Amino acid sequence: MEDIRIGVYVCWCGTNIAKMVDVEDVAKEMKKRPNVVLASDYKYMCSDPGQDMIVNDIKEHKLNRVVVAACSPRIHELTFRKALKNAGLNPYMFEMVNIREQVSWVHTNRVEATKKAKALIAGAINRVRWHSSLDKRSVPINPATLVIGGGIAGISAALKIAGAGVEVFLLEKEKEIGGMLNHIDLSFPHFNSVSELIQDKLKLVKNHSLIKVFTSCEIEDIFGYVGNFEAKIKYENKSETLKFGSIIVATGLKPFNPKSLTNYGYEQHKNVITSLEFEKMLKNGEILTTDGSEPRHIAFIHCVGSRNTEQHSYCSRVCCNTALKQAKQAKQALPDVMVYNLYADMRSIGKDCEEFYARSFTKDHMFLMFDNHKTLPKIKTADSSDNCNLLIEVDELLSNEALEVPADLVVLMVAMEAQEDAKKISHDVGISMCGNNFFIERHPKLDPFATTTAGVYLAGTCQSPKDIPD
Ligand code: SF4
Ligand code: SF4
Repeated sequence: MEDIRIGVYVCWCGTNIAKMVDVEDVAKEMKKRPNVVLASDYKYMCSDPGQDMIVNDIKEHKLNRVVVAACSPRIHELTFRKALKNAGLNPYMFEMVNIREQVSWVHTNRVEATKKAKALIAGAINRVRWHSSLDKRSVPINPATLVIGGGIAGISAALKIAGAGVEVFLLEKEKEIGGMLNHIDLSFPHFNSVSELIQDKLKLVKNHSLIKVFTSCEIEDIFGYVGNFEAKIKYENKSETLKFGSIIVATGLKPFNPKSLTNYGYEQHKNVITSLEFEKMLKNGEILTTDGSEPRHIAFIHCVGSRNTEQHSYCSRVCCNTALKQAKQAKQALPDVMVYNLYADMRSIGKDCEEFYARSFTKDHMFLMFDNHKTLPKIKTADSSDNCNLLIEVDELLSNEALEVPADLVVLMVAMEAQEDAKKISHDVGISMCGNNFFIERHPKLDPFATTTAGVYLAGTCQSPKDIPD
């Protein structure tokens, strides 16, 4: 019968784990368990000295099983398996216990947390005794990639992958690919033509021999695993089964409908429109009120549905710059127009965008600040004597005055929110969503495009609002 010899290591993670778990006591207790030859606590198990300690102990004490109690196996399981391999032991004779995320980070009672750590490690010791050597196997993989979403992120991903000589299936639920960019006139802060940008990309995609585009497409089922996925799709009344090895989710986002914010009276007041509706006017080269006249006063109201616990508490990132860009375009089209930006905070994020904001200060372009955590601006119909269509009541923060801003056209800078089918997509491909229904990456800094499902990646705004360069 095999002589089972287990080494147990309890990591302090600096004081991260040790703050809530009595690691010395845990190691002492684990030493008493059957088959445990040694048990020690150490400050940084993943460091080179930590790994060397495991290698030396395996050799010196003839260990044939190892248990490390530290952080999540997602972070360091491979590190420790490598240590076992370096010591000549099969790397799968290993168990890792997460006493950081699952114990010290989520408990406040040190005694109870220590008890829980002991129970988890004892479980791992019992389990590792039953491990046997495993070999790595190679399986053939399908290099083709499925890209879900035909907006700028999906298109860019498809072109890069196809450029590397790999087949791509690009799925788009709408009739045309191009996504949100099909509706945008110019980009900020340099006023480049978005139509030209997207048209060039569309041509490349449509003519690329390795990219197959499916429009009006619906996913019926996806199954399989990294390297060998399969999807049943329906498109333009046809069905097809696709085979591929990896998936990129690039499903984008959609504008918030401001109907529920009664203070703005969207769909009640004529001449209250959303930023995308105004963009359409700019694209068509015609800025008109509902009675067909040119507006003399245009007001842009920021943070509509964003940075507000009632709708979305996050910042939608692109709307301040969009408002500045649209205001500038309005002034170029109608030189006599008076423009107002009613903002909560000005967040002109991005390269050259703060400078673009600074250039916007002119005598016929006013910036008025409101407190988005107190009273939001309120739009009402103007009297005939007011000489404008609408009046916006606003408690202006910097002057501390209650003002009435005249407007013939009000543009609501609406939030960007997750797609309605985000939940379905997350189920289809097995990825997680945050509380705002954006998809979650594996690690925000170390692995920002991978997900926790092997072979499934993210691109673009399905992760959170971003601008075109992002
Ligand atoms: Fe921290 Fe994990 Fe490294 Fe230990 S192994 S020091 S818990 S990161
Ligand atoms: Fe508000 Fe500006 Fe953020 Fe948009 S980008 S949510 S308008 S602060």
